[in-house]
Amino acid sequence: MAIQKVAPGETRIGWIGTGVMGSSMCGHLIDAGFHATVCNRTKDKAACLLDKGAQWADTPNAVAETSDAIFTMVSFPADVRHVILGPDGVLAGCREGHLVVDMTTSEPSLAVEIAEAAAKVGAYTVDAPVSGGDVGAREARLSIMIGGDKEAVDALGPCWEAMAKTIGYQGGPGAGQHTKMINQTLLTTTMIGVCEGLLYAYKAGLDLETVMKSVASGAVGSWLLSNLGVRIINNNFDPGFFVEHFIKDMGIALDESKRMGLSMPGLALAHQLYLSLQALGHGRDGIQALHLALAAMSNIDWKNRKP
Ligand code: NAP
Repeated sequence: MAIQKVAPGETRIGWIGTGVMGSSMCGHLIDAGFHATVCNRTKDKAACLLDKGAQWADTPNAVAETSDAIFTMVSFPADVRHVILGPDGVLAGCREGHLVVDMTTSEPSLAVEIAEAAAKVGAYTVDAPVSGGDVGAREARLSIMIGGDKEAVDALGPCWEAMAKTIGYQGGPGAGQHTKMINQTLLTTTMIGVCEGLLYAYKAGLDLETVMKSVASGAVGSWLLSNLGVRIINNNFDPGFFVEHFIKDMGIALDESKRMGLSMPGLALAHQLYLSLQALGHGRDGIQALHLALAAMSNIDWKNRKP
């Protein structure tokens, strides 16, 4: 059966997980003209989408029953398993031809398992984790890393376009999640570099903003430096991207690396540093809070530093 291309005003969208990322992303689909049914563990966090006209459903299963394309953007792989494969999960409400898109950063092997389970009811699955942070989600400038059935991916084109600036098809089930693990591996050591660079600038008595202006426009310029570097200077350690989610991602990337026989010392170091940060009570802070742990190692009280 050919998969029908989604169309605003016709295709009914389901969305599960309306947190930092999901609420903005689903909001863009509604703004593009899609009718949406939403569900989240904490109903309050769906309020802005309900205000935009979305319908509420109590379970992922109920979302699937009233939708044609169902998106999930939850927290951990265990949540993905629960909302898609669980007794009240999405697949329990799916029929032939349904599209199921998991945008959570999750395990490649779970994406494969979901694809196999969905095939039994004739549904198509796509794993589509994203990069671009809370700002990218708000501004519809995400990069989406996509794995799964190519025809389903093409049929979802108008949805990708409503949320993203970069849309990359990487291969079959799990390929999107593998690509996201590469993204997270690159992120780990860059994040350490941003923090250490700012600590060096501070100890050398330089003006942090002037230093940032010089380095960010050269070869080491990056989204991390320009966005999270500025948040560090401004003592803003709010999420953004939760430390506990980053630890989850590094754990997945390390497991996959081990399975492939890869040594990843940079990734392993970052994982250890972030575990320490979480133990210090920063699990629900943004990943730029690594700076506080690295500052403490040099006995710098960053938040109360003198200008
Ligand atoms: P978040 O704010 O915690 O949002 C996750 C949402 O999913 C929460 O509202 C949560 O409900 C809901 N949820 C979790 N388990 C559920 C379940 N079993 N049933 C129903 N709802 C459930 O996290 P986020 O920052 O949006 O991140 C979501 C995913 O995107 C994570 O995998 C993260 O690693 C990834 N990601 C995040 C960023 C970023 O910058 N934030 C960037 C790229 C990728 P509650 O409201 O009850 O907690």
